Order: sequence, then structure tokens, then C-alpha cells
Amino acid sequence: MDSCNCIEPQWPADELLMKYQYISDFFIALAYFSIPLELIYFVKKSAVFPYRWVLVQFGAFIVLCGATHLINLWTFNAHTRTVAIVMTTAKVLTAAVSCATALMLVHIIPDLLSVKTRELFLKNKAAQLDREMGIIRTQEETGRHVRMLTHEIRSTLNRHTILKTTLVELGRTLGLEECALWMPTRSGLELQLSYTLRHQNPVGFTVPIQSPAINQVFSTNRAVKISPTSPVARLRPASGKYMLGEVVAVRVPLLHLNNFQIYDWPELSTKRYALMVLMLPSDSARQWHVHELELVEVVADQVAVALSHAAILEESMRARDLLMEQNVALDLARREAETAVRARNDFLAVMNHEMRTPMHAIIALSSLLQETDLTPEQRLMVETILKSSNLLATLINDVLDLSRLEDGSLELDTTTFNLHALFKEVLNLIRPVASVKRLFVTLSLSSDLPEYAVGDEKRLMQIILNIIGNAVKFSKEGSISISAIMAKPDSLRDPRAPDFFPLLSDNNFFLRVQVKDTGMGISQQDMPKLFTKFAESQSPATRNPGGSGLGLAICKRFVNLMEGNIWIESEGLGKGSTAIFFVKLGFPGRLNGSRLPHMRVPAKLGQTKFPGLKVVVVDDNGVSRTATKGLLVHLGCDVTTVSSGEECLQAVTKDNYQVVFIDVSLSSETYNVARLVVEKLPKRHEKPPPLIVGLTGNTDKAMKESLLRAGMDGVVLKPVSVEKMRLALSELLEHNNT
Ligand code: ADP
Repeated sequence: MDSCNCIEPQWPADELLMKYQYISDFFIALAYFSIPLELIYFVKKSAVFPYRWVLVQFGAFIVLCGATHLINLWTFNAHTRTVAIVMTTAKVLTAAVSCATALMLVHIIPDLLSVKTRELFLKNKAAQLDREMGIIRTQEETGRHVRMLTHEIRSTLNRHTILKTTLVELGRTLGLEECALWMPTRSGLELQLSYTLRHQNPVGFTVPIQSPAINQVFSTNRAVKISPTSPVARLRPASGKYMLGEVVAVRVPLLHLNNFQIYDWPELSTKRYALMVLMLPSDSARQWHVHELELVEVVADQVAVALSHAAILEESMRARDLLMEQNVALDLARREAETAVRARNDFLAVMNHEMRTPMHAIIALSSLLQETDLTPEQRLMVETILKSSNLLATLINDVLDLSRLEDGSLELDTTTFNLHALFKEVLNLIRPVASVKRLFVTLSLSSDLPEYAVGDEKRLMQIILNIIGNAVKFSKEGSISISAIMAKPDSLRDPRAPDFFPLLSDNNFFLRVQVKDTGMGISQQDMPKLFTKFAESQSPATRNPGGSGLGLAICKRFVNLMEGNIWIESEGLGKGSTAIFFVKLGFPGRLNGSRLPHMRVPAKLGQTKFPGLKVVVVDDNGVSRTATKGLLVHLGCDVTTVSSGEECLQAVTKDNYQVVFIDVSLSSETYNVARLVVEKLPKRHEKPPPLIVGLTGNTDKAMKESLLRAGMDGVVLKPVSVEKMRLALSELLEHNNT
């Protein structure tokens, strides 16, 4: 491309050659101008091409050559022919090559451009892959370290071991000179050096928590490089070291700990951090690498988690210990409560019995006194004594019943009894009192009510008497109507007791009793308390100073035991009240085909006496002995009193006695005396043996049963009045056909 020719002005012009040269020059110029244009395009497109300015220079050079050829167009004179031919040939060739080059460049440039772009793309890609590989490798390494570390850390759930292991493992993995853990103090104002890798006896060092370096570490979850001379990093002996190793610090969040009261750790009311400080060896050129910092950060998190687990475990162990302690205390309390209940019941039983003995004397003697000639004034006094004593005896019974009902030891005494007769007896008992108050009492028994029923006759009577007694007590005038029916199951549902579901079988029926009075009624405010013990009326009008407030409470419990329900309705004060209850009773005929027992019909005993009946009374209590003797003597018996079992046996073997009354108290001593008498009594075939009757103040059913089982013919509960003794003797003699 160098065919810039010199001018030879002397050579005559040859038309043809000239023509060729002229055309060639034109094309050379054209090619020369097009090539730089293509180069400019190339340079512009290939922004990444390294030799851009050389190419621009090259372009300028070609433009200039092209310009020379263009100028040649105007200088074609005075050349030798040979020169002209050579020149022409050269020019033609130059034109051809230039044009070919120009044309070729048009094709090559896009290719060149694309090749370069792809190469660059690949290079970038390779670099990126390289970076990613690096990250993956770092992560893998970090992961491996973390796994190793966390395995070690978590292999224990003791926080001291966790922290110590962390320091040891980090020190080993990262080749540390020293590693330390600073815990916040109880006040939260300082950090205390708690664990170190190498420092001996670290405890006691403290630094204030409010320092720029510590604040900076606590403000981020990243590991932060801190000055090697910072107070938290000043753990290494500085002497002899030219250059202290780099130090990083990271916060360890004390997670969850604020929920617990860990004994020897600060009470963490707000989120707090411990500080972990890691120091590279001094006098070495080592620096912290990014992946090492990442490792430190991950480990700090893991330590936080392990610590929280340890804290939870510690807390749950403490809770378990506490629970165990509480259980022991509860057990103790329960045993104490049981002992207390037992003591209370024993006390009640003893008191019950002990009170019955003097009551026995009072009632027996005053009932005897009643039978003597008295002035009207004296009679009134004796009657008052008797009434009060009977009230007291009822109260003693009520208290004992209630305590038994409350501890669940009271069981129903189920027998077959005459239901109709029971109501009539109640009526007989209530009528005298009602007539004094001029109250008109009516009783209606529905025709379908079975005559005999199975249940606890005594308790049922107690309920009915209590309710009718209240009706009499709280009515000044008017009437009291008692009605008893066999209730239909669907009539039993009471909207006030939605959780009461009466269940009936073929053997049972529900007795529904309603007692309606025209008395003073009950105010709405008193209603809810009627059945709670010691309930007292709020309104002075209905307040009952003589009552104990136990009656209805006991009734309710009895009714519940009989699977029934009880409630009282009243329109309000002065409008009378209606007490309704129903209890579950059995049909006698369908109860295992059992025979009807001998029914005790309240016999009109009148003034029955037992003249000449030979009786021994065994009682170690003089007063009680005298009272019993008094009753028997009054009934015409021939009475001998003794104070011990031995004396009794002597008396019985010597003489022909018909009945032995033996006092059986709670103590096993008297019980044994009773047994001794029963066992040692003359055998039945020798001579007719005496009938043995236990006289006891013990209301326990078990006691009565054990006495009967021991061989006694009857048991009479103290206190005993003349009437009661008469009834007991006549029943005893009647049963035994004596
Ligand atoms: P108390 O021994 O005091 O009579 P109760 O438990 O039998 O104890 O009765 C509790 C209270 O219920 C009574 O003091 C009385 O205020 C009220 N009460 C019970 N029955 C009637 C009634 N038929 N009329 C009016 N008030 C009654």
C-alpha cells in the first residue's frame, strides 16, 4: 500500500494508461477513505478492544495516503512510459488490494467484534464462577468448622462447659493467642471477665459497659475489629511484643434468659449481650479473613442458642425440684389434714358419747321425775328440762351427722319400712305442737304410693320432721298441708337444678313430698342461703334465735345421699312457703324377693310395766348406773347394779337373771367387758340365759353391728327416757318370746 509515486513531468501522456491510472487512483482513494470509516466503526463498537488509538492513527495514515492519490488525479503529465506502466500496474494492483482489503474488512469486523465480545463474556463468566466457587468453599469450610464447634458446644447442656468449650474450640480452630468472654454484671453497668482461654484466674476484672468500642460491638451482629489496646483486649502480657495481634469482638445475645431467674446470673430484664473477644497471635502478620469473621459470627449465634437451651434445661430442672418439694409439702399437708379430720371425727365421736352419758342421766331422771307427783309449777320445770335435753340430744346428733356427711363416712341404713305408717307417726308427733299454735295440719297420701318401701327410714323421717318442724316453727296461724305422691320421672326436673338428672330403674320410685305453710315466708335474699349450714335469716321477722341453722343443710345432704333434690319456694315475706323434696326409694317386693321384716308399729304401750323382771345393770359410771336403774325400777323391774364384768358374771351365775343391760362406751375396755359377759354367760342348755342389751352412746352403725355380732340381743342408744326404755324392753321381750 505504499505506491505513492513521484511525478515525472517530462513524459508525454498515454491516453489509455492515463485512463487506467485515473480510475485506479479513484478506487484507491475510495478504498483509502472507506477503510478508516470501517476502522472508526470497529473502534466504536469494540469498546473493549485494547489498541484503539493505534487503530485511529492507522486510520489517519490511510486517509492521508488516500488524499495523496486523490491529488494525483490532477498530476498525470510528463512521465516515461515504462515508469507510467510500472506505475499503472502498481496502482491497479494497489487499487485491487485496497478495495479487496476494504471489502474484506466489512465482512471481518462483525466477526472480529463478536469473537472479542464472546471472549470477554467468557472471561467474565469464568471470573464470576471463580468468585462463587470461592464463596462456596469458604462456606463449606465455615460450615465444617461450625459443625465441629457446635457439636462440641452442644454436647453439653451445662452453660459453664458450653462457654469453656467454645473458647477452647475457637482458639484451636482459628489459632488464637487469647479468647475471652465478658458477661454483664448484675447491675448491668459493667462487663465482667468470666471465661478466658489462657489467662489464669480471670474472675474479678470488670470494664464499664458504656464505652464507644463496646457500644459499637453491641450495635451489630457482625464481628467487629477493635483496637488491640482496648480494655477488653488487654489480657496479654504486653512486654516483649512489638506488634499486638489483631483483635475482633462479637456480641453473644443472652436469649430467653430474661424469662428466667437464673440464680448466679444477672437478672436480665432487658435484652443483654455478653462480649466475646478473639485475639490473633502478636508479632505475626496474620490478619482476620472474611471467612474467619463469618465463622466467629456464626459461632456467637450458636453459643447464644446453646446457652438459652442450657438455661431452659436449668430452669426446668429447678422447676422439677421445686415441684418435687411442693409435692412433698402437699403430701405432708394432706397427711396432716387427714390426721386433723381423723382427730376431729374422733373428738366428735368421743364428745358425742361423753355428752350422751350425762344427757342419759338428765333425761332418764327427769322423765322419772315427771312420773312422780309434782306441783304444776314443778311439772312445767321438769317438762322444760326434758324438752331442752331432747333439743340438746338432737343437736348432738345433727353435729355428728353433719361431720360424717362432710367426710363421706355416713352411710344410709337401708331397710324395708312402712311408708304410710311413717307419715302417720310424723303427724302424731307434730300434731300436739301444731295444736298449741292452732295450726291446722292435713296429710294427703296419694293412692298409688306404695305402703312399704326400701330406704333409710330414720333419715327420711328426720328430713320430713325437719321440714314440717320448720313449717310449724315459722307459722303463727293458718294451716300446714303435707302431701306425698309417687312422682312421675318427668315431673322431677327442676329448672333451678338443671344438672340434676333423676335415674330410675324398675326397682325404684321417687317419693315426692310437699309441705306448704301459710307462715311468714322467705325473702328472696335469704333463698340462696337456706341450705348452707348455720344459715341465718337476714330479716329480723323470720330470724330464728333458737335454731342452729343446721336442719336444712343436713336435710339437703340426706336428700342428696338418697339421690333426690330439695328446694323451697316462697312468694315472699308473709306469703307462706312451700318446701318440696323427692328421694329415691325401692319397691320392697322386687328387692331380691326379700321378706318383709317385722315392722315396728309405734305400739300404744301406755303405762306398760315389767313387774319382777330380773335385770342386771353393768356400768362403771355411777351416775349413769343410777339413772338406768331408776328407769328400770320405775318400770317394775327387780334391778341389781354392778360396776364390772366380773361382778356381773358372778351375779348372773348365782341368780337367775332375765336381762343384762351392759354399758358399752367407746373404749375397748368396756367393749371387752361386754364380750366377756357374752362369752362367759351360762350355756343355753343349762338354764335359760339372760338377754343381753348393750347401752351405748355411740351412734356408729358399725359399733351396733359388732355388738350384735358379738352375741348381744339388742342395742339401745343413750340417752334413754322412761318411754324409750319401755319400748326397748317390750320389743326385746316380744322378739325373744320371753
Ligand atoms: P333452723 O334450725 O334455724 O330452723 P334450718 O336449716 O331448718 O335451721 O332453716 C334455716 C332457715 O330457713 C331458718 O332459720 C328460716 O329462716 C328459714 N326457713 C326454713 N323453713 C322455713 C319456713 N317454712 N318458713 C319460713 N322460713 C323458713
